[in-house]
Amino acid sequence: MRKYLVAGNWKMNGGTAANQALLDGLLSGLVASDQVDMLVCPPSVYLESVGKAIAGSGIALGAQNVSEHESGAFTGEVAAAMLKDFGCSYVLVGHSERRALYGETSEQVAAKFAAAQAAGLTPVLCVGETQAQREAGETAAVVDEQLDAVLNRSGVAALASAVVAYEPVWAIGTGLTATPEQAQDVHRHIRGRIEGLDEAVAANVQILYGGSCKGSNAAGLFAQPDIDGGLIGGASLKAEDFLAIAAAAAGL
Ligand code: PEP
Repeated sequence: MRKYLVAGNWKMNGGTAANQALLDGLLSGLVASDQVDMLVCPPSVYLESVGKAIAGSGIALGAQNVSEHESGAFTGEVAAAMLKDFGCSYVLVGHSERRALYGETSEQVAAKFAAAQAAGLTPVLCVGETQAQREAGETAAVVDEQLDAVLNRSGVAALASAVVAYEPVWAIGTGLTATPEQAQDVHRHIRGRIEGLDEAVAANVQILYGGSCKGSNAAGLFAQPDIDGGLIGGASLKAEDFLAIAAAAAGL
């Protein structure tokens, strides 16, 4: 039985005082559930302080990005081993903002995925199509290309210690959410593609939905058979909203 994972991507938001207020709210309202794991991904400069604040709470720590290189002359980059050193257990790779704004290719994302796993981190591989790609009927092809880059490089067994996040780009930060049926269709497609290579890996891999997920729509999305939680942007910045999403998962 797969557990739910509710993951917060804080993006480039927050600050020392704001983080503390958010974490105080999260920790005071946290209701432990053996059905739901929680994860927060703050900006990298706050990993240490957030890690200390959530220690012992059961909430895991993750980063939003990682270098594909192990170490060396890569100014401004952060290596997977450094994230591990700071107490991270997860890292997002291939978020659509990284792909669109920083030109990350699927091959580079696959290299980041491999670097994360080599350091003992669980990568959260983000995939998803743009509005234009959806309208052109290319959703499956886009998601396949993003997934296959990782499968070709690391093999299907690598997905046994990874998470996939389906995030339609048109739903991220726009207030537009995929309907539960639209999301389920793509989640089923992703799990089916993995199933074709390894049924056990497909049965166990968590596939999260991301894109304007909030307390009011989370239960409908998470009730779908192939949706195992959410990657949450905007709604992860308010404790009560993030807790409402976790509660939706716990109630299913
Ligand atoms: C995200 O950035 O991963 C995301 C899903 O953002 P939002 O929830 O704000 O749409």
